[in-house]
Amino acid sequence: MRVYSIPMRTRFRAVTRREGVLIQGPAGWGEFSPFAEYGPAECARWLAAAREAAWEGFPPPVRAHVPVNATIPAVGPERAFEIAKVSGCGTAKVKVAEPGQSDADDMARVEAVRDALGPGGRVRVDANGGWDVEHAVRMIRALDRWGLEYAEQPCATLEELGLVRRRVDVPIAADESIRRAEDPLRVRAAGAADVAVLKVQPLGGVRAALRVAEACGLPVVVSSALETSVGLAAGVALAAALPDLRYACGLGTLSLLEGDVVHDPLRPVGGEIVVRRPVVDERALCRFAGAGAEAWRRRVIAAQGHLDGPPVIEVAP
Ligand SMILES: [Mg+2]
Repeated sequence: MRVYSIPMRTRFRAVTRREGVLIQGPAGWGEFSPFAEYGPAECARWLAAAREAAWEGFPPPVRAHVPVNATIPAVGPERAFEIAKVSGCGTAKVKVAEPGQSDADDMARVEAVRDALGPGGRVRVDANGGWDVEHAVRMIRALDRWGLEYAEQPCATLEELGLVRRRVDVPIAADESIRRAEDPLRVRAAGAADVAVLKVQPLGGVRAALRVAEACGLPVVVSSALETSVGLAAGVALAAALPDLRYACGLGTLSLLEGDVVHDPLRPVGGEIVVRRPVVDERALCRFAGAGAEAWRRRVIAAQGHLDGPPVIEVAP
């Protein structure tokens, strides 16, 4: 078990360094990188994902490449245009509803990204739950002038998502509303979304996420939890194994980190990631070695107490 700590290029959720542990087993390396505020019961699913990667490996892929989207942060229109243009991606996700910014800022950014991608590109927006229902309806209609593929998490609650969904023509995607295996079924039952954004670690592994995708019956977008290439490989494996993948995935997130722990990082080329498992680089592991090994060990032991099956760390009775 190795602790890593990699500076973030842009801060996210007040996080300036991405930290976690990499666990090696007979099938390769797995990543366990729950955010600091998560307790043992929630961490158990993240640990199950690492255990699957390290002990079982991934289910067989049905495709060799996974399309990914560019991510456009809440920047000005010139910068947004530039990021979309150089990304090489045919799909861009534009951050909207940023606190402290105006509706006009969002519109200028979406317009710039549409200009950059041209009429054939796909533009989606992500509000991270930042609008109330009226604001969401108004903005989604306004932004759809530039053609939206979908609007991700326009409001915070399932009930609000459902209300918005019934009033706009743009499909609605649920992201923050899906954090546990049972959530997609609730989203579906509430008529709250047309698309489910799934992440491997919070759902407990690639196989668990495949079951969730099948049970909820909604088209899926696979997204990362800002992992290193070790964790991203599990997201890529999920996207590669889904019977139907009609949307570009949010797996092109390595550029948010200042470094990586493998020889051959899972970076998109021409808007796609090649389906493979990268090889861990011992020198990079040393370079980005994090502190707190004992604290992480305790976190793993606490999490595995909530997990069925073999322990990740053997604890003497
Ligand atoms: Mg999102």
